[in-house]
Amino acid sequence: MKKPLKGIMLSQDLLDQILEYAKGMYPKEIMLLARGDRIGSYLYIDEVLSPPLQHNGSDFASINIFYTPFTPSIIGTIHSHPSGALMPSLQDLLSYMGRIMGIAAYPFEGKHDFAFFDRQGNVIPYYIGNKETAKNS
Ligand SMILES: [Zn+2]
Repeated sequence: MKKPLKGIMLSQDLLDQILEYAKGMYPKEIMLLARGDRIGSYLYIDEVLSPPLQHNGSDFASINIFYTPFTPSIIGTIHSHPSGALMPSLQDLLSYMGRIMGIAAYPFEGKHDFAFFDRQGNVIPYYIGNKETAKNS
């Protein structure tokens, strides 16, 4: 029997990479795909990918779903909010893809500037750890 899902897990390195990228692209918005799988009680994010043909505008990022490699290992999307709002917009919820949606908000300094949301816009708790942490907890 599967353990109930406790939340999402990713490494400190990956979180730093996402925040650095968002900071580097500011004031443009970034859009990434999250690859991962279920490990133990967590959805573990292994890596993030840049979707092909992305359009980086100053206030939005859109991806063309027909050119996006939506293999089963893509568990969701991650994008940035240069405005600093750490919550999904109505447009985010309408264009929701996958199982999880990560949002990095300005000033992209640390864990408190990043959050995950489900399709209804509710926060999904996330934890910092490696695969071993996920397996053993
Ligand atoms: Zn958004």
